[in-house]
Amino acid sequence: MSYKTTCPYCGVGCGIEISRSGSKLKLTGDKDSPVNQGMLCIKGQTLLETIGTDDQRLLQPSIGTWGAAIQTIADKFKSTKKDEIALYVSGQMLMEDLYIAKKFADSYGIKNLESNSRLCMYSTVEANKRAYGADIVPVSYDDIYHAETIFIIGSNTADCHPIVFNHVKKSKAFVVCVDVYETTTARKSDLFIEVEQGRDLDIINDLPNQEWFKNKKVLSIYSQGLTQSTDATDKVNSLINAHILTGNINKPGCGVLSLTGQCNAMGGREIGTKTKDLTATEFFSTDQIKTLWVMSTNPAHSMINYRKFDTLIVSDFTQTLTTKDADIVLPACPWSEKSGHLKNSERRYLQQLAFLPPAGNSKPDWKIICLVAKALGLSGFDFDTADEVWKEMDIDESWSSQIQVREELVTIDPIDRIYTSDVKNNARLLTQWHGMSRTDKSQTLNNMTKLNPNMQSIHHITNTELFKDKEVELDKYSKQPCFKG
Ligand code: SF4
Repeated sequence: MSYKTTCPYCGVGCGIEISRSGSKLKLTGDKDSPVNQGMLCIKGQTLLETIGTDDQRLLQPSIGTWGAAIQTIADKFKSTKKDEIALYVSGQMLMEDLYIAKKFADSYGIKNLESNSRLCMYSTVEANKRAYGADIVPVSYDDIYHAETIFIIGSNTADCHPIVFNHVKKSKAFVVCVDVYETTTARKSDLFIEVEQGRDLDIINDLPNQEWFKNKKVLSIYSQGLTQSTDATDKVNSLINAHILTGNINKPGCGVLSLTGQCNAMGGREIGTKTKDLTATEFFSTDQIKTLWVMSTNPAHSMINYRKFDTLIVSDFTQTLTTKDADIVLPACPWSEKSGHLKNSERRYLQQLAFLPPAGNSKPDWKIICLVAKALGLSGFDFDTADEVWKEMDIDESWSSQIQVREELVTIDPIDRIYTSDVKNNARLLTQWHGMSRTDKSQTLNNMTKLNPNMQSIHHITNTELFKDKEVELDKYSKQPCFKG
């Protein structure tokens, strides 16, 4: 018996095939997948090392039974003002989970619903809206094979989105990489342009004057190196402007591709998991929120200014720094135990298919939220399967590579800020992913990480110490947070 499903790590969205023979499982890349054609990076290849139950796995609600846990949460919600409740969701959750989270927030009147995508891609959303009039990504991975030049800026694609980089290397395009230090991607590109911290906008603004940009079919690829900065919206908008001004858009091999970090970060954008009141950063940096429900993310590890709440509820499949801090922990199913849909960086809908039963008493996120909604007396949450939720969502899966280009482009002014020379930067590893709550379960990945000569480990307390005197600054258009200077 075999199951086709999708890798739960990054936004590339690689198809995988799981075959079962007796009690043995085998994982391979799905050769029929239009995304990866059978290729998988080392994280995808070692996924089976991360499934099942270890001593970190959450199997039961922390306060006894599901009935007791759900009633306690419902009572807490009833006794807290609605503007003091927040839901903090994640790009790890499937379309069905996010749809139900949003439906619940809207039905109950919770304005504070945000995704951890606040930390990485809201600046892209704002830039797309400014440049195109809507949050659109008018390119696909196929464009990689039609491009003459591939311009990678602020993205270590080779380590962070390896299968996209495999496509880049298989194409015949000339690869230019711009970054602040020599990454794996820089070493494997045809041309590496090292840029000073914060000076990348100068390079982007000058692109329309460059012969190699004007006269070639160019596909630009970027990720967090561009979007996690104080001028992120301007940088992305300027890059899109450069494409529009040189006609490098609306043609095969041309356009701008943002690589999303999480498997369903794009899906969250589509569903609109975006606050009507405080941003996710403000959940933590103000004291308005008293009751916070965190789903499938680990803000104690990742959120600037992480703080304590009167009541912290956490749904996750494994212990994290955040579950250790929680008043109520709910055991959620990981990717291998739940079915649903997600949407990758090129806006392709993909399916995840459970190939294991829920371990212990764990449940998929959408089901947990429905239980709380029903305990609060809300109607419209009587679903038995993820399929029923998907049907109600009634999603139009059609997609167009053509966009309406605005006649007047937003003018991007040069940046006049001074950057100090002691700016700290961070990086990602090929062999680990985000907060390591899943990759840390793989012996192979941990051994490879230890062997990496560039690896220096900083304990999270030290990490907090390292950044404690840093001022948080927001990109002025998207309010995406980053450190100042
Ligand atoms: S590139 Fe991303 S989606 Fe593909 S196998 Fe690697 S981690 Fe998974």
